[in-house]
Amino acid sequence: MADIQNLEQRFESITVQDENQDSNAPYQHKPKGSLSQAISLSNLGTAAAQSRMKLPLQKLPANAAGKPTQTTLSTTITKITLPSQAAQRPSAESRPSDPDPLSQPTDNPKPKPKNWHLGMFEIGKPLGKGKFGRVYLARERSTGFVCALKVLHKSEIQQGKVEKQVRREIEIQSNLAHTNILRLYGHFHDTKRIFLIIEFARQGELYKHLRKAGRFPEWQAAQYIAQMASALKYMHKKHVMHRDIKPENILVGLHGEIKISDFGWSVHAPNNRRNTMCGTLDYLPPEMIKPGREENWYSEKVDLWSLGVLTYEFLVGEAPFEDTPVMTQRRIARGEMTIPPFVSAEARDLIKRLLVLDPDKRLSLEEVEVHPWIIKHCVKGERHYQRTSGGEGKKEKVVQ
Ligand code: ATP
Ligand code: MG
Repeated sequence: MADIQNLEQRFESITVQDENQDSNAPYQHKPKGSLSQAISLSNLGTAAAQSRMKLPLQKLPANAAGKPTQTTLSTTITKITLPSQAAQRPSAESRPSDPDPLSQPTDNPKPKPKNWHLGMFEIGKPLGKGKFGRVYLARERSTGFVCALKVLHKSEIQQGKVEKQVRREIEIQSNLAHTNILRLYGHFHDTKRIFLIIEFARQGELYKHLRKAGRFPEWQAAQYIAQMASALKYMHKKHVMHRDIKPENILVGLHGEIKISDFGWSVHAPNNRRNTMCGTLDYLPPEMIKPGREENWYSEKVDLWSLGVLTYEFLVGEAPFEDTPVMTQRRIARGEMTIPPFVSAEARDLIKRLLVLDPDKRLSLEEVEVHPWIIKHCVKGERHYQRTSGGEGKKEKVVQ
């Protein structure tokens, strides 16, 4: 118990460092204030309001809050020219010098974190609702930059006892900059709410795409898994493990690229907290469900197991251990699964090498990236995206 508290305390003093900056990262990081400086959730009731504006949300027309725009954001969204298109494209197209669209001017030698407030945003249509907040399409007025604004109510966060989780999400996600990780550009709060300024994932939830398609063709699944591997490699280099990889936590960007989101369960590795998980058991690795003390220590290898589950679900349409909760746990602990015959030999091989009970014997992310199944479907230096309007297997070649 003391250990757990210790870890928690240690975690709270940690700020994700940039020394392992991945060359894939499309942005330079903005200097960020420490978490304690950023938000004091323990002082929610007394926190001074940084923004006294009332949230217009969807009740008001998007132009009612100030700027003389002609129509609502939801109707003009397709016509918006983004200030930094390059910054929203896949990493290989972006240069580290690409300006962060929401940062201070680049000629400022010491850019300070911007003092965001609600009045700086035009609020558009609701994008969705989560357990603790609603997400709206938004546009930053001065640059026209389109983003998503997640609104969390402090009272609900307190009631749900998820202060730590929210802090974690903010601190970790705001320090990650990778094409396949949903960017958190910044945050601000007023007396009642916390606002997260998030990258807008234009094509929505991957889960919905998967349910609509039933299962993904192998080329598409392979490209998604390659992108996942790249993002996880970047995170793991920064000693961050996600711990909650599943289709529900993956969004899809404008170009069909995936964006990992939901860092509420992510944590610095290694960690021995296992009581905090909730939700589906399908993606839990064996080392996180096993009873016993020593074994409770787990590492970022948990994400490799989840990557195996994800590969399976992409190709089959359901998770490999899906069953009653008791049976799912039992099957995970034994690694019991059957791969249907329509799955190719290469994909089968990758799944089996990831869903290995012993965390140390799982394929590494580097090995995933050069696995024959990935190589076969992801030509180096090129990326294929299926046209949404095109037929099955019709690919659009995007040379980077
Ligand atoms: P949970 O509360 O368990 O995290 P959730 O992930 O569904 O659930 P949110 O992250 O609050 O909750 O998001 C709610 C929904 O809003 C998402 O499911 C998604 O459909 C949509 N959404 C969230 N963020 C974005 C975004 N950046 N771009 C596009 N849609 C988004
Ligand atoms: Mg979420």
